[in-house]
Amino acid sequence: MELLVTGSGTAVPSVRRCAAGYSVAVAGRRLQIDSGPGTMRQLARFSIGPEQVDCLCYTHTHPDHVADLVPFLFASRYGQEPPRTRGLEVVAGRGFGAFLAAQQAVYGHWLEPEGFELHLHELATDGEDRWEGGGFRVVSRPMRHIETSVALRVEEVATGRSICFSGDTEYTDELARLADHTDLLVCECANPEEAPGPGHLIPSQAGRIAAASGCKTLLLTHFYPPCDEADLITPLRRHYDGPLLLAEDGLRLVV
Ligand SMILES: [Zn+2]
Ligand SMILES: [Zn+2]
Repeated sequence: MELLVTGSGTAVPSVRRCAAGYSVAVAGRRLQIDSGPGTMRQLARFSIGPEQVDCLCYTHTHPDHVADLVPFLFASRYGQEPPRTRGLEVVAGRGFGAFLAAQQAVYGHWLEPEGFELHLHELATDGEDRWEGGGFRVVSRPMRHIETSVALRVEEVATGRSICFSGDTEYTDELARLADHTDLLVCECANPEEAPGPGHLIPSQAGRIAAASGCKTLLLTHFYPPCDEADLITPLRRHYDGPLLLAEDGLRLVV
């Protein structure tokens, strides 16, 4: 498996950090986990066209995670030569179908798939759930952020390797359970220790979750600008002593 960070940032416009997004190569497929604004251009920077993306996965419907769904669908209908024919899987928490239908109601037929099929797979938001892709699966658990929030664990069936994405969340034991002994925990750390905010984690909480999960490597991400001026590592290290990385756009990791 390979992870490419397309966006380590948030709702705050930033040259350094695009809004949330992660490209995952697994079992011969390419997944995009969240697609905040700017994701399409980031993928172009890394020579990944929309036609190469088999599966869009969403942790929740905040704009900094989902805004580029609209340009993705528009480009899949009009922006490709030859036109897209391969199916598109969309995986997200229950309620995403209504969100997608609302987008399509605004944009009309411009967003309707043409020449390819879109399959939506809604995951439970009240307990663990899973969707079996070809050669990989996506396992989910509900997070504490908004009603439809889920964390997503992508597992490669043949190797047993996995990457777990927190999405946005406050502290919850559900995340460590989902990330149990995962190879890579991609965990939000939106705020520095000194400035906690509702709906998000601070470094000590990310450290507690990483330690409880037994993850092999922890990758912190989703940094609001104060994180780039703060010491995230010292408070985190009081709880977790394993391998630790801080995300930057363009970071690639082989799992
Ligand atoms: Zn959010
Ligand atoms: Zn967010």
